[in-house]
Amino acid sequence: MKHLDFDVIVVGGGHAGCEAAYASARMKARTLLITLKKDSIGVMSCNPAIGGLGKGHLVREIDAMDGIMGRIADRAGIQFRLLNRRKGPAVQGPRAQSDRKIYRDSMQAVLSKTEHLTILEAEVVDFIQKGNNVCGVRLKDGSQIKAAGTVLTAGTFLKGVIHIGDQSYPGGRIGDDPSDQLGDRMRDFGLETGRLKTGTPPRLDGRTINWDRLEKQPGDPEPVMFSFLHEKPFVRQISCGITHTNSETHDIIRENLDRSAMYGGHIDGVGPRYCPSIEDKVVRFAEKESHQVFLEPEGLEDHTVYPNGISTSLPRDVQESYVHSIVGLEQAKILQPGYAIEYDYFDPRGLKSTLALKSCNGLYLAGQINGTTGYEEAAAQGLVAGLNAAAAALERDSITFSRIESYIGVMIDDLTTRGVSEPYRMFTSRAEFRLSLRADNADQRLTPKAIALGCVSQKRQDSYLQKKNSLSSAKAVLSNTLLTPQQVQKLGLSVKLDGQKRSLFQLLSFPDFTLDMARPFLADQPELEPAIQEQIARDALYANYLDRQSRDLEALKKDQERTFPEDFDFTQIEGLSNELKAKLDKFRPETLAQAGKIEGVTPAALVLLLAKLRKHQKLSA
Ligand code: FAD
Repeated sequence: MKHLDFDVIVVGGGHAGCEAAYASARMKARTLLITLKKDSIGVMSCNPAIGGLGKGHLVREIDAMDGIMGRIADRAGIQFRLLNRRKGPAVQGPRAQSDRKIYRDSMQAVLSKTEHLTILEAEVVDFIQKGNNVCGVRLKDGSQIKAAGTVLTAGTFLKGVIHIGDQSYPGGRIGDDPSDQLGDRMRDFGLETGRLKTGTPPRLDGRTINWDRLEKQPGDPEPVMFSFLHEKPFVRQISCGITHTNSETHDIIRENLDRSAMYGGHIDGVGPRYCPSIEDKVVRFAEKESHQVFLEPEGLEDHTVYPNGISTSLPRDVQESYVHSIVGLEQAKILQPGYAIEYDYFDPRGLKSTLALKSCNGLYLAGQINGTTGYEEAAAQGLVAGLNAAAAALERDSITFSRIESYIGVMIDDLTTRGVSEPYRMFTSRAEFRLSLRADNADQRLTPKAIALGCVSQKRQDSYLQKKNSLSSAKAVLSNTLLTPQQVQKLGLSVKLDGQKRSLFQLLSFPDFTLDMARPFLADQPELEPAIQEQIARDALYANYLDRQSRDLEALKKDQERTFPEDFDFTQIEGLSNELKAKLDKFRPETLAQAGKIEGVTPAALVLLLAKLRKHQKLSA
């Protein structure tokens, strides 16, 4: 395959690569996806699940941009649960356990039918570089492929080393060789590089588990889908089992800690703090006598079970002993041992917000190689890099995502301005504007942007516009129907008799007021669809907050040139992290605009600075 020309080449068929290739092709850029094994496209290297807190928000946002992950996760979903269901909608996270095979097969089926996308099985070993421009790739067989933009999404493969106990060998993930040549080549770009690690649990044969002794965890009775285009699951739903480690399990692990790759000094890389190995849990939480283990079937036609909560780098014999010490797993057969993997990542501060390298043109990095962990974080970066590589190749404007509009923007900003010191995963707490960045309104926030870019199918565009029209007409009716304070009091709500009329939409922000109570005032209006009712209720709940947020941000734009007086004390601003206070105190910006350019100073931090500045000026006036 010589001298083929494409607009965009995507290297890697993992979660970042699939999303990047699909996004680039949707932009109508001629796209080539090159990956080591065609039949590994869409493989889930670790847990068979998509979504969760923060991560579920990312999947919804990818879907709102007409990306692929949410739709595939719905097709493969064998158990759907909305996490934090009892808390407010802003922090609820959709999660689905996947049938690993259906996920992979569906991803391959969609990509192989995608217009403007070609798939090639090969190993990329080098980049073609002319001066400061990367203009394609060189394959292991010596052939070259030229393209305007290249997106690298090599995951855990660059200089990957697998560890099981005191044994280690090169590998990209179990069963796959690492990408060493490309790992070496990447060092020429002058990016800061480091080693990270992650681990996976042993896989068990479900037929050897004593399910009768275990608690069952079913999915939600009314499953919530990821994709705005889907309403219900595609395949049969299942329950998971729950068991627990115990003092015997912990003793076995403690006695063998020196044989663990992680604790035996074989691994230098930093691991994911929020996804600790069982060794880590036993050491770090020594006072806990037990840890929960979810037994998640990997598929409807697959006996493999993923024991979520016991990832490890202990030797195989120790894995067998500790697994057998757990209730229900006394006879469990290990099909594949758990292992840890250590790999190269590159400091994402060397990237622009388009995920293009700052130091040279035409090369974009996305996924685990930027120091993140997780399928969803990888896919969201793939979307950004794929859209931008395509836009640059087609000589269109670059596409950026802000912290104010999306979790995607939060993650890209965090990565490119703060960098990482441990594998980065998404949490709702990372978003300052999380009340507006909800999983339920991702389409309202992002689909208009995707429609404007032209990367949305007709089906999605039609369904979005229909929903938007229904929402705006319902909101207009509710906002225009006004009740006197007496009428409101009669409904049992406590308001002052201040003569001020309140709209039904305003009343929906009261916890005790529902759309059913609004019904008698809407006699001649047609009944709203349940989905629209639910959305209206959620939008109304946060409307006051959102109004205030937009006013704050508007004020901020106007106030950029306000100057900080010399005696302004940056260390006394409530709500800022100590790290940020120290940084501001060190750099002492002269204006708000300058403060905004300091790494880590987010729009929310600027709002706090502005409030303090105003107060200070009022006091000294
Ligand atoms: P990957 O999914 O790794 O895909 C990389 C792709 O690049 C592959 O298709 C590969 O074939 C291709 N490739 C590599 N080099 C080349 C080359 N030179 N030429 C062509 N193609 C190439 N995530 C969590 O959230 N929690 C966990 O606990 C967790 N544990 C994990 C444990 C293990 C052992 C592993 C391997 C991964 C784990 N992950 C975990 C991470 C999760 O798998 C990744 O976050 C996710 O897969 C990253 O997606 P990606 O697209 O960046 O890379």
